[in-house]
Amino acid sequence: MEATTYKLNVEEIRKDFPILHRQVNGKPLIYFDNGATSQKPRQVIDVINRYYQHENSNIHRGIHTLSQEATDAYEKARKTIQQFINAQHHHEVIFTSGTTGSVNLVASSFGKKHIQAGDEIIISTMEHHSNIVPWQMLCEEKKAILKVIPINDKGELLMEEFKRLLSPKTKLVTVTHVSNTLGTINPVKEIIKLAKAAGAFVLIDGAQAVPHTKVDVQELDCDFYAFSGHKMFGPTGVGILYGKEAILNELPPYQGGGDMIKTVTFEKTTYNELPHKFEAGTPNIVGGLGLAAAIDYMNKIGITNIEAYEHELLNYATEKIKKIEGVRIIGEAANKASVLSFLVDGIHPSDIGMIIDKLGIAIRTGHHCTEPLMNRFDIPGTARASFAFYNTKEEIDTFILALERALKMLL
Ligand code: PMP
Repeated sequence: MEATTYKLNVEEIRKDFPILHRQVNGKPLIYFDNGATSQKPRQVIDVINRYYQHENSNIHRGIHTLSQEATDAYEKARKTIQQFINAQHHHEVIFTSGTTGSVNLVASSFGKKHIQAGDEIIISTMEHHSNIVPWQMLCEEKKAILKVIPINDKGELLMEEFKRLLSPKTKLVTVTHVSNTLGTINPVKEIIKLAKAAGAFVLIDGAQAVPHTKVDVQELDCDFYAFSGHKMFGPTGVGILYGKEAILNELPPYQGGGDMIKTVTFEKTTYNELPHKFEAGTPNIVGGLGLAAAIDYMNKIGITNIEAYEHELLNYATEKIKKIEGVRIIGEAANKASVLSFLVDGIHPSDIGMIIDKLGIAIRTGHHCTEPLMNRFDIPGTARASFAFYNTKEEIDTFILALERALKMLL
């Protein structure tokens, strides 16, 4: 394996990911679809196995030993997540089903409390559908107005346009930290500062940021921050909504049910404290434990090491792919995470995806749940390779050869 400039023992890391050792269509798997979901290390899989074999019980309800142990483990997981994003309080960390769940929670609760007819919500052109549709639904219900920050041809937000969109009517600004389609890392700190100066609240979609870069919610000073466990080496079906204590305390509950209440009578129900007020019903307990195990794993490698290594992979792949005739990279922002979206003149991306799948290589093709962004570039979709810290330059070499082979067949 080629030495990297960073202290990352990828050979050893790969041993922790059982799936990376399987074959697909008779070839060693090369997994470049990390933007869709990441693979899971043994350390996460073991936690899930152990939980169901030895620890399974419901939380916050029983006085028996198993229930208390499960409750302690779940609340410890919350603290691991709190530290990971540097939230001030553990009760500012709300377990959800994922980024989509988190955004819908804010749209519902924040929407009820703060959005009225004529109010404005600002999103960006590069949002994932999960950070578009809930706001469209809210705007329709409340007769509020959705405004969209435009981008340039490189896939960067036009900050001057954003400033022009801000007004006393702006109630919420919500943008993605990192674009899943373009890889653009948005200047969220500046966006938050500008939005706050205009008196707006801010939600950041961190689904693609948290797996690849250090996120400090206090330093960012955002009001809400959403992300998913499965994109950061944890299980599916679990995610986080971070919210500032004072803001969450003022919001009405999202869903009603067990755990989110203090007392219930047929005449009146009183609600539980944070974070339970927003966590109705039995949660994905093992998901929370698995997510904490994934964070422990990432912490062991070091997020700055991960970021630096992935950057190196991105640069390496970008240089190589640029040498292939007819390739057009979609997303050339100055500040990019390890996502490489591309098109080849005259070829449909799904044809490329299908051929290289036969060679054991998994990439994503399509609109990546960002249809308005595809419309902005006037393209139906892209082929997308997205890298994680367990990928290697050798895999990129194999991918480039496979791509060249596919193009010869298709052109
Ligand atoms: N936002 C972004 C930027 C994403 O990439 C994704 C997943 N592709 C989501 C939101 C939605 O995440 P989930 O499906 O885990 O809720």
